[in-house]
Amino acid sequence: MENASPFLSRLSESATLAMSRKSRELREKGIDVISLSLGEPDFNTPEFIKDAARKALEDNITKYPPVNGFKELREAISNKFKRDNGINYSPDQIVVSTGAKQSIANLILAMIGNGDEVIIPAPYWVTYIEQVKMAEGIPVVISTSIENDFKVTASELEEKIKGKTKLIMFSSPCNPSGSVYSKNELAAIAEVMERHPHVYAMCDEIYEHINFVGGHESLAQFENIADRVITVNGVSKGFAMTGWRLGYIGAPLWIAKACAKIQGQVTSGANSITQMATIAAVNADPSRTHYMRDAFKERRELVSRLLSEIPGVKTNEPEGAFYHFPEISDYFGKSDGKTEIKDSFDLAEYILSEGHVATVAGAAFGSPNNLRISYAASEEELTEAMSRIKNTLAKLS
Ligand code: PLP
Repeated sequence: MENASPFLSRLSESATLAMSRKSRELREKGIDVISLSLGEPDFNTPEFIKDAARKALEDNITKYPPVNGFKELREAISNKFKRDNGINYSPDQIVVSTGAKQSIANLILAMIGNGDEVIIPAPYWVTYIEQVKMAEGIPVVISTSIENDFKVTASELEEKIKGKTKLIMFSSPCNPSGSVYSKNELAAIAEVMERHPHVYAMCDEIYEHINFVGGHESLAQFENIADRVITVNGVSKGFAMTGWRLGYIGAPLWIAKACAKIQGQVTSGANSITQMATIAAVNADPSRTHYMRDAFKERRELVSRLLSEIPGVKTNEPEGAFYHFPEISDYFGKSDGKTEIKDSFDLAEYILSEGHVATVAGAAFGSPNNLRISYAASEEELTEAMSRIKNTLAKLS
């Protein structure tokens, strides 16, 4: 007899993983599916990082590492925060985890409990909502629009702040919209936080290096609120290291200690070889990975142009990450005579089953009128995928 915990009933299946599963099922039937549903770079990890891993193995760095990460790595991350982001987190304020997903889970479990409110602008990375629900917190979602590049304004944020608000969570560059908050926009958010000293913010900067507008800006650079900002980052996206599993936070000391305490009872320290490889990654001059950023920028432009040729699809210009998040609600209520499209889930399913392209419904990210298209794929694949999407949508009237 199944007898699952109440915790499990609070969780939803990840929509991105569900799309991957459906694509796999079609592929197993011999159908050529182009997958634009995944959140991972299609590059290999740079050689200089793999060299550091090889050396770590040769040096037998294979024992349990400290729970919060090797000191040498935490020092390297502390220097990186100073060098790239103008933030002062001492090595004691850094916690290294098995992926940024774990970093965020630690943080939520450390800060959020029964009935605490967490403000999350939509579109959001799906995991934020699920982890807040896991901790019995209450996600308070603020919708944004494509006209505003999917960014929340400081005054919209302030309106939602109540006595029970504990945390604001967002990513910049954003998954799924690709939006990047400017220094002025972050300064306005910092001003709001200054007026509400009980509120903390988690700024997820894992796409920091995939930024097409120039300098990345961090919320924690504003000294008036820096002691209430948790900066999340990691090597998965910027260094093409999704399978290595390493993320980290810089946080106020009490939060860093709490996260390490939680992690110490769940996974202990992150993989020792990965930690040594990450020292090479974060110590490197950021220009060493610009070739990936530049390739993503070209693909963004290609997909922008091809999307603009599809009737009824509204786009904006994403400034970072590797996603387009077009508005596709013109197709709701349309049909090909057999299948009726009611919402973004139906449309993503239709594009997969009829056009053999995997995307993800915007509703999964809290934006029901949109579709997430990852352009972490080759130009040939992207061109073919956009043509398939165009032809598939043309069947609907
Ligand atoms: N944050 C955002 C916004 C992401 O898109 C992802 C991965 O998709 C992560 C965090 C987690 O990254 P990882 O656990 O691979 O470090």
